[in-house]
Order: sequence, then C-alpha cells, then structure tokens
Amino acid sequence: MNDLIPPYESILERIATAAKRSGRHPDDVTLIAVSKTHGADVVRDAVAAGMTIFGENKVQEAAWKIPLSPSCARWQLIGHLQTNKARQAVRLFETIHSVDSVKLFDTLEQAARQTGARPEIYLEVNVSGELTKFGLTPEKVPALVEHILEQGQALTLTGLMTMAPFDPEPEHARPHFAKLRALRDQLESQFGIALPHLSMGMTGDFEVAVEEGATDVRIGTALFGARPKMTRPTLDVDTTSGIL
Ligand SMILES: *Cc1c(COP(=O)(O)O)cnc(C)c1O
Repeated sequence: MNDLIPPYESILERIATAAKRSGRHPDDVTLIAVSKTHGADVVRDAVAAGMTIFGENKVQEAAWKIPLSPSCARWQLIGHLQTNKARQAVRLFETIHSVDSVKLFDTLEQAARQTGARPEIYLEVNVSGELTKFGLTPEKVPALVEHILEQGQALTLTGLMTMAPFDPEPEHARPHFAKLRALRDQLESQFGIALPHLSMGMTGDFEVAVEEGATDVRIGTALFGARPKMTRPTLDVDTTSGIL
C-alpha cells in the first residue's frame, strides 16, 4: 500500500510548484483522485496515504464502490450523467462536475428538492469544439446559467469543468484552459455571481491547468497507474479488483 505514497506526494509537489509558478497558493488547488475502474481496495489504500476526495465517472460503479470504501472518503461525479441516474447521483456525490443541459439541471434540481441532498454543481463546457466530447459549447453556457439562477433553489452552481483534447504535448491544452477561465470571468461579471471552481487538468496536463487557474484537478493514471480495460464496468471491476 505504501507504493501509493510516493506518487501522491510527488503529484502534490508538482501541483504546489505549478501553483507558485503562477503566483497562486498551493492550497487553492484540490486534488481529486480519480478512482474509476479501480476497486474499493485501491480507495482504502489511497485514504491511508492521505487522499480524501475521489472522482468517479459512472453512477452505477460509484454505487457499489462507495459502501465498500472508508466512510471518510468524499465522492464527486466527473463523468457524463444521464437524467435517469440523477436521483442516485445527488445522494452519492458532494459535487457533480458534468451538468450540460437544462433537462439534466431540472432533473437534478427536482431530485435535490425531493431527497434533501445538496450537491454543488459545475457546468461542463466543451471549449475545444471536439465532437467526441460531452459538454455545452461556450455560446450555450450563459442561457443555462440564467436558467439555473431563475430555477435553482436546492442546487447552487459553483464552477465550470472542461476536458482538453487528448494531446501528448501539455502546452497544447493551455488555450483551452485559458478559455474556460475567461468564460468563468465573463459569467461572473455578466451575472454578478461567484464561480470559484475551475475543474480542469488530468494526468497529462494538470500543471498547465493549475497555471491557468484550475482549482480542481482530476488525476487518475498518475496516482493509480493504467486503468484496467472494461467493457461492462461493474462486473469487470469486481472481477479485476477481487473484492467481491
Ligand atoms: C478519467 C478521467 C480523468 C482522469 O484521467 P487521467 O488521465 O487518468 O488522470 C479526469 N477527468 C475525467 C472527466 C475523466 O473521465
């Protein structure tokens, strides 16, 4: 289990160095350990090593993993969410990074009112225009923000999230991250609201993301190694991790 500690500490150091390089405080950046595809045994080791916040991209996978994991672990949904999982999602996650439509927001809002759960929500923005990506185009974001400000009672919008296109050169991600930050600044002044969270940066590009203002970096591979390949998430994870 101690194998986890050196990568964790070196990632924290790299985050801190990137933060200082850009005149920011290391504490302003939160590491979300992306545990998707890994079993609860990996989460347990990660908690023992000091990690506290975990990112999952599938509601069903989180639903079996969370009860098997230490109760001090906190969970955030970073992957695409379908409306039929909204009710489960508001109960499982403290933050949902992937709100990208009026319909999804309305369903989450209703689920929050009914269940009493109050996750923070971020809007997922497809700043690169890549067709394979989920998320709103930047042009569509203001209308959804307006809708949320009018209709949101239970849920509060606190940030934006994006994924840069896959590219082995981290510098190529910089303009996408800068664009998300500029959009955030524009929304804050247009609507007079605070959007303190910028969820951006993964294993390949988190230092650049921190330099561009990321407050939430979502890191999986650099902490836990390559992910096991899965076709049927729940079954295959249970088998490969040997926990059930
Ligand atoms: C899997 C995933 C990550 C983590 O990716 P790594 O490259 O393994 O760090 C981050 N964000 C989202 C939305 C993901 O689905």
